[in-house]
Amino acid sequence: MIYLYPMRLIRFEPRGSGRALIGVQKEDVAVQIELPGCADLEDVIASPEALAHCADGANSGAEFRLDSVRLLAPLTRPEKILCLGLNYESHLREVGLEAPSEPTVFSKLANTIAGPTDPILIPGAAPRRLDYEAELAVVIGRTGREIPLAEALDYVVAATVANDVTARDWQLKKPNGQWLLGKSFDTFMPIGPALVTLDELPPLDSLQLRCLVNGETRQDAGTGEMLFGVAEIVSYLSDVCTLRPGDVILTGTPAGVGMALDPRQFLAEGDTVECTIEPIGSIVNTVSARSE
Ligand code: MG
Repeated sequence: MIYLYPMRLIRFEPRGSGRALIGVQKEDVAVQIELPGCADLEDVIASPEALAHCADGANSGAEFRLDSVRLLAPLTRPEKILCLGLNYESHLREVGLEAPSEPTVFSKLANTIAGPTDPILIPGAAPRRLDYEAELAVVIGRTGREIPLAEALDYVVAATVANDVTARDWQLKKPNGQWLLGKSFDTFMPIGPALVTLDELPPLDSLQLRCLVNGETRQDAGTGEMLFGVAEIVSYLSDVCTLRPGDVILTGTPAGVGMALDPRQFLAEGDTVECTIEPIGSIVNTVSARSE
């Protein structure tokens, strides 16, 4: 099965309403999705019928001007967030490591999810070495295990943009390194602004990924630079764990992370991080001290 539902799926809050809605973005309008059994986008992407309904124009929900809503994280309850480390040649060079012969995989916890304009909160336990990693994220739409390489992209329903925010002191300086915890503080995965179905996109290895901090370009690379492409990653992971709709896979980051610059440039309160992949869009997040 191949997905043929070109569209941008969003989750949004009409400003001031306090209500989280799901919908389809059509240019500068958000069209609400109201379908039985579809409370969130995880339900929509898991249902070929719901996807077809939304894509063929049958969806005729309430319309909101895009500038009157706040976009929210498109997904809230992935069973798994799986992440590739060391997957771009330029990033390997800047950290002085050899190319791995198999994917290097770690995870983030779901408490990391933040919306496309939400703040990145500075953790009390890790205030100093916060770093950004702009990444192409893909979302699984079908349940599968031991997926052959040639079929792997059929299991990917959409792509989006993610920032794999990392507390480098936890990741690298704690005894033996704490990759999971160093990457799992609250708000450490801004994601969005939309789930863009693959048939709406150029091939996943031909996208341009950028990260700007306070307007200054830090990362700018083509996704064709990945050592392991999306199909290889999906097939590899599915040999270990059953992949399910809503699972998110972050595919790694290119050169230009703050810890590899000279001098190093970690994130500080008030910094704004903008991660972009066209035509998916941008997530723009400001680093903020914890308010509570
Ligand atoms: Mg990363």
